Amino acid sequence: MKLVNATGLITKEVKYGDNSRIITIISPELGKISAITNKYKGGKGKALPSLQLFSYSSFVLFKGSEKGLYHINEADIIEPFKNLREDLMGIVYASYFCDVANHIVMENEENPEFLRLILNMFYALSKKDANFDKIKTVFEWKTAVLEGYAPDLEKCSSCGAEEVSYLDLGRGVGLCKNCGKDYAGVAEISRNIKEAIKYIENAELSKVLSFEISDKLCEYLNSLSEIYLRMHLGTEFKTLEYLKKMK
Ligand SMILES: [Zn+2]
Repeated sequence: MKLVNATGLITKEVKYGDNSRIITIISPELGKISAITNKYKGGKGKALPSLQLFSYSSFVLFKGSEKGLYHINEADIIEPFKNLREDLMGIVYASYFCDVANHIVMENEENPEFLRLILNMFYALSKKDANFDKIKTVFEWKTAVLEGYAPDLEKCSSCGAEEVSYLDLGRGVGLCKNCGKDYAGVAEISRNIKEAIKYIENAELSKVLSFEISDKLCEYLNSLSEIYLRMHLGTEFKTLEYLKKMK
């Protein structure tokens, strides 16, 4: 039996039989993996903190006879994100981020940058007075950047003018006032919106939330990033629909 050490964030859990669950772990060492766990207090009880959804833990794992499934030999909590899970809306936002993570990170394919992004966003969601919508739009734009879909807003992609007034959502490029009118699927972007997108694209994760934005602009930025990410990933997320209903 070969033991493997890994750290990772638990992004999904599904019941498996009466006393077991299969958890999805996003790990920098192993990518996305599935592991079976039966370590529950008294069988029916709650999962150990280190094995709960949204926990960031270290694991000692081994491969069992089931194809692709890992078994857990040991698990220790690194960060439980306690504040986040005590807030219903925190759970709703975290669930959506996990959904995106599970879609993007491939089985057994390393993606440390994406794990770093989602962990940073989880820490941000855990803070008192967290602005959830600001965190969401940052998460969505940064996800687009990591996936290679960063919008290019430096100049008009059609005539080369420096003034960009539209974002072509499908192509991820900027268009000026004149050219933008001729295209379908474009969204108007003010100077402030353009600067916010460029800031998020380029900022280090430690500073990416350090920008001022009004609630109204944040709402628009949010609707843009939401459509943009959905278009480029080509999928709908049930957790996002739920999030919108809950707001
Ligand atoms: Zn133009």
